[in-house]
Amino acid sequence: PVRWGFIGASTIAHEHMVNAVRLAGHEVVAIASGSHARAAQFAAEHGIPFATDSVDALLARPDVEAVYISSTNDRHCAQVLAAAAAGKHVLCEKPLAMDVPDAQRMVDACRAAGVLLGTNHHLRNAATHRALRDLVRAGAIGKPLFARVHHAVYLRPLVQGWRIHDPAAGGGVIRDIVVHDVDALRFVLGSEPQEAVAMTQSAYLATQGLEDGVMAVLRFSDGLLAHVHAAYTTRNTVTSIEILGDQGSLVARDVMTVQPVGSVMLRDADGERPVELAQENLYARGVALFASALRGQGAPAATGEDGVRSLAAALAVAESAQTGQRVRIPA
Ligand code: NDP
Repeated sequence: PVRWGFIGASTIAHEHMVNAVRLAGHEVVAIASGSHARAAQFAAEHGIPFATDSVDALLARPDVEAVYISSTNDRHCAQVLAAAAAGKHVLCEKPLAMDVPDAQRMVDACRAAGVLLGTNHHLRNAATHRALRDLVRAGAIGKPLFARVHHAVYLRPLVQGWRIHDPAAGGGVIRDIVVHDVDALRFVLGSEPQEAVAMTQSAYLATQGLEDGVMAVLRFSDGLLAHVHAAYTTRNTVTSIEILGDQGSLVARDVMTVQPVGSVMLRDADGERPVELAQENLYARGVALFASALRGQGAPAATGEDGVRSLAAALAVAESAQTGQRVRIPA
């Protein structure tokens, strides 16, 4: 088994990732938090043997082979660089960093240190998203021309903190949700977004100039146009991905989520039918792929490079909304 150190006593670590590591057959041997009390409480709750308020102390432990980083977004870069310097493989949360140069520096540092870097874009592990990708690839809808991602949800009160109040921590719905949406599109379509136009909304949750809603249009390398709609402020909504091709369409409902749920419908000249899916825990699959990759087999669901590219597209959306201009996404 791979022995993991966790950096960040976060909600996602608490709710999903400890369980995911164990489901995949690996161990969590250490937890580091900015606060000793929070690290100790997290360790006690999850039966983790070592707790510390020092990332360096965690990275110095020889029993830690890989780290999972789920601190606030502003801390990812420095923590990944430190992990690489300590020779630890890294699975880092999205968005990889606050800006593209930092994210690229993280990729370069991990490559130079000979450690694996993965980005925890969990949606790539969803049976629904994988089915969409496979069907698109197989030509089931002909040439894909348009895609629409509906990811307008209500931000749970439990996590109504830095996401809506703290720009310095990397808050805002674009860095949080749009980065997932563009990554999902890159994965499903197998092409790259090249330019973006967008408008944001700050309806009632976000403060400090942060946005809590956004609509964006992205043009992909094959000419496809994608509409991405994300929000924290809407209750009782349905999330979805729709892909419209010149021969047919795919509609996936309830698929922008952390749970292994949702459906995919294919409509073509033969009519409409549900696609058969084998649902499984998204995070456990992500950990399993990462662990295989660090043993030399395959690749993480989303690599460090994927994290950079999806961040670049999300930040282009942010820049377009801010400037009112169409923004090119660096290749
Ligand atoms: P949290 O706000 O729960 O945790 C982030 C950090 O905030 C923690 O590492 C912790 O710092 C600090 N913190 C947590 N609780 C408290 C508290 N009560 N008082 C003071 N500080 C606290 O964030 P999330 O778990 O929602 O997100 C963490 C990261 O994971 C983000 O980068 C986010 O984008 C990503 N994420 C990814 C998801 C995915 O599906 N891929 C889903 C959700 C989040 P410390 O460690 O120093 O104690």
